[in-house]
Amino acid sequence: MKRIGLLTSGGDAPGMNAAIRAVVRSGIYFGMEVYGIERGYAGLIEDTVLPMEMRSVSNIVQCGGTKLRTARCLEMLTEEGQKRAVQTLEKHGIEGLVVIGGDGSFRGAKVLSEKYGVPTIGIPGTIDNDLEYTDYTLGFDTAVNTCLDIINKLRDTMTSHERVSVVEVMGRHCGDIALYSGIASGAEIIVVPEIAFSMDEIVTRINRSRANGKHSNIIVVAEGVMGANEFAKQLQAFTTHSVRPTCIGHVQRGGSPSMADRMLAAQFGNKAVRLLK
Ligand code: ATP
Repeated sequence: MKRIGLLTSGGDAPGMNAAIRAVVRSGIYFGMEVYGIERGYAGLIEDTVLPMEMRSVSNIVQCGGTKLRTARCLEMLTEEGQKRAVQTLEKHGIEGLVVIGGDGSFRGAKVLSEKYGVPTIGIPGTIDNDLEYTDYTLGFDTAVNTCLDIINKLRDTMTSHERVSVVEVMGRHCGDIALYSGIASGAEIIVVPEIAFSMDEIVTRINRSRANGKHSNIIVVAEGVMGANEFAKQLQAFTTHSVRPTCIGHVQRGGSPSMADRMLAAQFGNKAVRLLK
């Protein structure tokens, strides 16, 4: 295989740039030409393809976001869109493709591979950690560390005012960001979509911890369960303790990738190129 393509798709995640760098540099190492496709499948359909050189990926290993930018593209769900995507690959003589993204992006990669015979390798890049084929997805570690930083700060102020903090974290239908950031921050309660919860039980736990001398409570709630505002409203109806909602939001998607994500990106990127080879 002499010429490969590379795109990032779906939600961005810290470490995508490090993976782009790894794919480009590994490809060049193996004597391949590497083409970057901007804006995910949208760029593949609209033919925004550019050659990538060694220096195209200088100084990006430490940057959040994705240099190639990303998009959600409904046209890729249609046969016409898929055919146009394949035509772009053929036009540029691109023989294999690396797709960095989440489960939706993987479904697109599967279509290209199984329906159109394009050798395609997926790199699991999403903060959600909701893909089965890996222990950790790219960006998850950095996102959890961002959550930890914010929860630590919330703990300070919640303790001073003896409040209950409801912190909403991302993850779509997966509770991993909530679970890991909750355990690592010492949250009293973690609510994930995978396990049913009862507000009565939560109030019992808050009361028990206060009786044991605690001055604050952190409840980490995955977005797949409920938003922080709604959760706090429901909880406040059951307790006299002051409940404050915080939605961490898109901050989780940005920032310089952690060492763990940079290492994962280097390994994923190199392996993807080796598999295509
Ligand atoms: P994240 O988990 O971070 O949201 P993701 O990759 O799951 O990332 P999606 O928006 O679900 O993000 O998918 C990205 C893109 O993949 C879609 O916009 C679409 O272009 C393509 N895609 C998703 N599902 C399919 C499918 N069944 N067939 C072809 N393409 C698909």
